[in-house]
Amino acid sequence: MAVIVREPVLPITEIEHSAFCRTDEPLTSKPLVEEITANVRWQRLPQRYMAMSPEELAGRIRDAKARLGTRVVILGHHYQRDEIIQFADFRGDSFLLSQNAASQKDAEFIVFCGVHFMAETADILTAPHQKVILPNITAGCSMADMAPTDEVLDAWDEIAETVGEGVIPVTYMNSTAAIKALCGENGGIVCTSSNAAAVFRWAFERGRKVFFIPDQHLGRNTGVKLGIPLEEMVVWGRFKPSGGLTRQQMRDARVILWQGHCSVHTRFKVSQIEEARRRYPDVKVVVHPECTREVVAAADMDGSTEFIIRTVNQGAPGSVFGIGTEISLVNRIAKENPDKTVFCLDPVVCPCSTMYRIHPAYLAWVLEGMLEGAVVNQITVDQETARYARVALERMLTVR
Ligand code: SF4
Repeated sequence: MAVIVREPVLPITEIEHSAFCRTDEPLTSKPLVEEITANVRWQRLPQRYMAMSPEELAGRIRDAKARLGTRVVILGHHYQRDEIIQFADFRGDSFLLSQNAASQKDAEFIVFCGVHFMAETADILTAPHQKVILPNITAGCSMADMAPTDEVLDAWDEIAETVGEGVIPVTYMNSTAAIKALCGENGGIVCTSSNAAAVFRWAFERGRKVFFIPDQHLGRNTGVKLGIPLEEMVVWGRFKPSGGLTRQQMRDARVILWQGHCSVHTRFKVSQIEEARRRYPDVKVVVHPECTREVVAAADMDGSTEFIIRTVNQGAPGSVFGIGTEISLVNRIAKENPDKTVFCLDPVVCPCSTMYRIHPAYLAWVLEGMLEGAVVNQITVDQETARYARVALERMLTVR
């Protein structure tokens, strides 16, 4: 009989992010018991997995995956550690992986090595008979956690009531399924960091104002790309009555930005770019648009993880790249481009701590569970939410 275990995703704090910043250790997996610190909340795991060596875990994962065959597909987000990525059938950004999930019609299990909102999106896009599994149920996203559904619904009601018709809700992929559903139900849409500018153009063809959730930096950087002056973009402040905005400010703004950010990408500073240019006068600085406006303005280029990978891969031998994104990805790009100099702009090595919660011990646990008929950490989105969230996702697919 299948056993389904569901636990709420724990919110992630900034302190927890910094708990993972290490300057003195390489980013390689240790037995799980050594990785867990008192400050960090991880999902409980059967004791026998806790002390297994990296070699034993790798062997068990390889064996379980082989025995499951085509019943299982493993998806690995670019920010996952190498010890997970080596087992991924597909690797990519959140949207690419969800598309991969949707195209794997024969697989019974989709194991999403990423974070919670990605697994939700995969569940929305996959067929009803497929089960989407998140190996560690506490792998959330601190940015998505900054936009609790109830808060966003209240803000939406007030904004829509104040400005009337013509405001289009747009949410970044990094949000709950319920927020995607809010967008789908109200003429809105989802975007990724690859297509945010095209999605904004789509929205402005249908309305005169965008309410953007949850990353204020991606929203602001996208608005600037479309020529919207900074003073026409306001921030809906959390924990403030009416978001700290007057009714006139809400009416005048072209873009209302939710007060959320990525704890990893906001670590990058203009001073780090200046230092990189001092050390390497020919450096090309490429950053993710979740970085602050100042950092994006100081960089040579900005774009999604897929854009960053492509840019470095296409660089001439001998070229130098200073990268502003998550360290596991930067390290991998550097390894795969030995003819170039590729380095992270932030001298303090800081992985995305929530992505890092997918330790090989969890992957071994869920795969071996499947062999015994136990389904752990299945992520499901209720049908009503999924229906409207799918509308917002499908609108995004029509945008070019
Ligand atoms: S890198 Fe930032 S936005 Fe991406 S999953 Fe981690 S916390 Fe969330």
